[in-house]
Amino acid sequence: MKNKEKFDIITKNLEKGEIDMDYKELADLIFPDAKEISYYEEKYPERNLPEGAMVVRVAPSPTGNVHIGTIYQAFLNRKLAKQTGGVFYVRVEDTDQKREIENGITQIIETLKKFDLAPDEGMINETESKGEYGPYRQSLRKEIYQAYAKHLLEQGKAYPCFASAEELDEMRAKQEAAKVRTGYYGVWAKYRNLSVEEAAEKIKNGEPYIIRLKSPGREDRKIKHHDVIKGNVDFPENDQDIVIIKADGLPTYHFAHAVDDHLMHTTHVIRGDEWLSSVPLHLQLFQMLEFKAPKYAHIAPIMKEDEGGKRKLSKRKDPEAAVSYYTEIGVPKEAVIEYLLNIANSSFELWRKQNPNASIDEFELQLNKMSVSGALFDIVKILDIAKTVISKFSAEKVYEKSLKWATKYDKELEKMLENKEYSLKVFGIERGNKKPRKDISKWSEVKENIEYMYDEKFAEKDQEYPYQVINDKESIEKILSLYIEKYYGEKDDKQQWFDKIKELAGEMGYAKEVKEFKENPDKYKAHVGDVSTVLRVALTGRTNTPDMYEIMQVLGKERIFKRFEKAIENLK
Ligand code: GLU
Repeated sequence: MKNKEKFDIITKNLEKGEIDMDYKELADLIFPDAKEISYYEEKYPERNLPEGAMVVRVAPSPTGNVHIGTIYQAFLNRKLAKQTGGVFYVRVEDTDQKREIENGITQIIETLKKFDLAPDEGMINETESKGEYGPYRQSLRKEIYQAYAKHLLEQGKAYPCFASAEELDEMRAKQEAAKVRTGYYGVWAKYRNLSVEEAAEKIKNGEPYIIRLKSPGREDRKIKHHDVIKGNVDFPENDQDIVIIKADGLPTYHFAHAVDDHLMHTTHVIRGDEWLSSVPLHLQLFQMLEFKAPKYAHIAPIMKEDEGGKRKLSKRKDPEAAVSYYTEIGVPKEAVIEYLLNIANSSFELWRKQNPNASIDEFELQLNKMSVSGALFDIVKILDIAKTVISKFSAEKVYEKSLKWATKYDKELEKMLENKEYSLKVFGIERGNKKPRKDISKWSEVKENIEYMYDEKFAEKDQEYPYQVINDKESIEKILSLYIEKYYGEKDDKQQWFDKIKELAGEMGYAKEVKEFKENPDKYKAHVGDVSTVLRVALTGRTNTPDMYEIMQVLGKERIFKRFEKAIENLK
């Protein structure tokens, strides 16, 4: 319905006497300065978007330390908006001012940006926003909620309630004793049927009050709801006279949800499934306000195994619930997002296998294919995904990301990376080819992964030379000396390099081929692979490294010789 039409209907109703003039007076007494709702209806017109475009949002509260669930929801919403040519916005729900923390909004926005989830509209820091449908911070929308509350009051669809905390406690105790549902409803709703005069009197006397919805619902009647994710669900109607405006003049979540998602023209409310049971109330609010209700999609939360059972991943109990955890251990954002997409649509895994190098933008997310129950959080899987993601990064990118992480979290690594040119070569080992090495899953692993390539770090570890099959001093010394004197060739290509190790093995009386060794195990003490191991251990202090040829290329003649000499020294 057009705003103008709506306004005309209200005016007509008023003329027909359907709006009780007493209600109007009471409404004026409560909210004397509130504007007509037609003002807002005109100020926030329908959005001009293509057919099927989704207008979606996240609505976090600025309570500090962003939860991975917020990133999950933001990602889903943003992706759907992108896929349909719609709008993704961020609305900050700060009506519970007790829970707020300083710079909470900036923290949320910065985190979203870090994960490439910057919204099209919404807050950009504590006070500023972009977009035509703001303010995007609920505490700045007080007058808007009051206008709509006034509108309900004028029609007798809401009323002031003067119940004190003691009265409410007493009511609850009675309900519990009588074994009936608790809450403010039906006969228990003490101030629901107060006459307008009585209410006005109390207000004039300065008695404190809040505004409640006069619910027309009945608990013995059912409503049918189709949730985009959960499917068809039946609920009893809402009959609770819920609070819509609190004593501080700010709205409750429920009321703000209806007003905001209407005025901001949200098409799909995609939110945590803890809100599913509020749907009857929300649909009722939309109906009473004469708004078209959005579609709802309730997302199952990310779960955690706990003492044999399952529970929601909790910011209080689980460090991995906070997004900052991933930044701190240095898991790249691409891996976190990719993991979340795995949870969201089970078809993603297969798609990824078939399209290993495609951008996730090419995957079509389907809301109705989301799982109904919560996925178990799996850090092993995240790290596994991260390994693949990092293996596809260029050396330059790995360098930049590691350095950025190190600057904040690891001074020693930062120092190691000072020599950029050399570090790029180190990161370039077995990278950029068809089957890149998958050995880093987080930036906090980088130091341990590459430290043997740096002389200072390598020198610290001179006591550890884990030689294997060939482990007697004499043989080791001979292999290393021979290699330096006779077999090292600075300009050798990989084949020449390897052939020379074979020759060295032959000269030492070992099998030049592993196959030969296997065929005549009694004839040889060791084979070419064992010779390689001696070289590898002397060179790196490790038995397991990336390609030794590439390592030697990066280390260069001088370092190689020094390391071999040091290893010989160490034998004595
Ligand atoms: N502030 C609510 C929450 O964080 C928003 C729910 C919604 O998306 O409507 O749970």
